[in-house]
Amino acid sequence: MEDAQKLVAHGLEAATAGRVKGLLKALGQSQAGEKAELAERLRLFVEGAALSAPRREPNPASLKVGELRKELAKRGLPCDTSIETRDALLRRLIDALKREAQPNAGASGADRPTTEPDDGGAPASGEGRDITLAKRVLELAETGEDAAILSLAGAPVSRDSTVAAMRKAYLAVSRSVHPDKLRNFADATKAFQALVGAFERLSQPEVVGAGEASRRSGAVAATAIARSNANCFRTKVRCPRCKVEWGQPCDGVEKWCYSVLMQGVKCYTCSTCLLDFGCMTALHSCPHCNGPFEFAPADYHRQVTCGSARCTRPFGFHLFVMPPRAEAELRAEVKAAAERRLRVVEAARARTARGAARARAAAGADGGGGGGGGASGERAEAEAAFVRGLRDECPRCGWAPSAGEAQRDDLVEHLRSCTDAKAHAAHRKRKAAADARDDARAAGRHKQEEAMTHAAWQLLGGQASQMWMLTDEQLRARCLEAGVEAAGEQALTRTERIAALARRAAEADGARMLTNGGGSVAPPRGRRGGSAACAPSASSLPDNLHSLSLQQLRDVCAAHGFVPKARGKDAVIAELEKRRFAGSDEVLLLE
Ligand SMILES: [Zn+2]
Ligand SMILES: [Zn+2]
Ligand SMILES: [Zn+2]
Repeated sequence: MEDAQKLVAHGLEAATAGRVKGLLKALGQSQAGEKAELAERLRLFVEGAALSAPRREPNPASLKVGELRKELAKRGLPCDTSIETRDALLRRLIDALKREAQPNAGASGADRPTTEPDDGGAPASGEGRDITLAKRVLELAETGEDAAILSLAGAPVSRDSTVAAMRKAYLAVSRSVHPDKLRNFADATKAFQALVGAFERLSQPEVVGAGEASRRSGAVAATAIARSNANCFRTKVRCPRCKVEWGQPCDGVEKWCYSVLMQGVKCYTCSTCLLDFGCMTALHSCPHCNGPFEFAPADYHRQVTCGSARCTRPFGFHLFVMPPRAEAELRAEVKAAAERRLRVVEAARARTARGAARARAAAGADGGGGGGGGASGERAEAEAAFVRGLRDECPRCGWAPSAGEAQRDDLVEHLRSCTDAKAHAAHRKRKAAADARDDARAAGRHKQEEAMTHAAWQLLGGQASQMWMLTDEQLRARCLEAGVEAAGEQALTRTERIAALARRAAEADGARMLTNGGGSVAPPRGRRGGSAACAPSASSLPDNLHSLSLQQLRDVCAAHGFVPKARGKDAVIAELEKRRFAGSDEVLLLE
């Protein structure tokens, strides 16, 4: 570690690739890539160690891609594991950690210069280029050329590109035009907002028959959208594992299941290999050229092109009408799934809290001297486990003894003679590839989960009072969009976000009541001037309040525009029930 620190502080540019590789290996980091990448990886490790040591946290360089994504999401930073390398994500996180460390690290700034990245002159010209790009964004924003803004990073985007293609282009431009990067450009925030606006307008579905107001509030029940099926196709969907086409008549899947799948409402099971998959994990092909394209539910009500250079004909996705009874069943199913997800989230949160408490206790017990072992300690542990027969394969070369052969002495002997560096490298490479596949699969599942949660919320009415079912990522995105939270500021808690969004929705409803003179489907029972609140109802409440945690119940209250007076879980449930069944006006006066 000290060698690495020294090398990063002086002379990383002069070091040979072999030397950098050796250090990376000792630190348990990947050794793949060109010299510039290797140097950056070593720099990331050293900077990460400097940031994490004072807080006694693990080095961010040792996080898995999934964990990195979580850390980035927590800070509202972009992350696309399909196009960005692990090093790029790590760089973004470490830069954010540095900014977080700055205010209270002012006094102990002695070690700061060594942790500052310096690529030897490149950043200066890079920033100049980024500022030019930001200025160009602002110019194009004046004339409303959204597609041109997103095309600035090189990949051309048009109004009928898929949302996935737009997202990629957006991320590419945002890497240059980000307020965090353009600290010497006064209009950086403005340029970034113009970019976000361009992406949002362009990816907005142009739905025939859905009112502007209802679309803005997101209150379009997914299956209630009336639109034409002109130039729409029942596109081919294939299982991501066995590649067999899904939804053939022989599978017993109803026609309208296509609409349910494509809107991200639920997953279906492959009738060939029994894998569960949804529209975000499935394989899609263009109805014109049969080429693959990336699909997201946001594309379902749009006309898109597949993105192939030779295929420019747009196409839409067929909307099948669902029988009312099936729709009612689907709603119940989807709501139950949303509540199940909340229970899973709560269980995961409790597990992390317990783990953190244990880690704190352990750190306290060994007097704070620990934490140095890191990668080499982990390897020693893996080898000890292998010798005891607790691991199927040798952690060095991947050799897997068959079950009967696993005598302790044989295993010890194998480890002693297991010194073939080539075999070790080959095994590491195989393992890295397997990890990358796992990470990519996990990223796909995560995207599918996010899409399903959002689709469930829309299907069930898309009301503010139901926002308790949305994910943290979605709530944050809505808060940023509504301007109740700003990117650089202190992040709001989940409950605060829900409360702020519910307040916004109530104000908007109130304004609509004044201008339209009523007539909306669910008239808000608000008081003049004050914040309007929506009384809890069977459709706005979870079916099983008792299965939620106290904090989740508080979220439900916030979504209905009030803070519970009660402290305990049962008392909060009683308060919700009372509001639900009482004459709502009287209850509201008691507030
Ligand atoms: Zn399959
Ligand atoms: Zn095509
Ligand atoms: Zn071995």
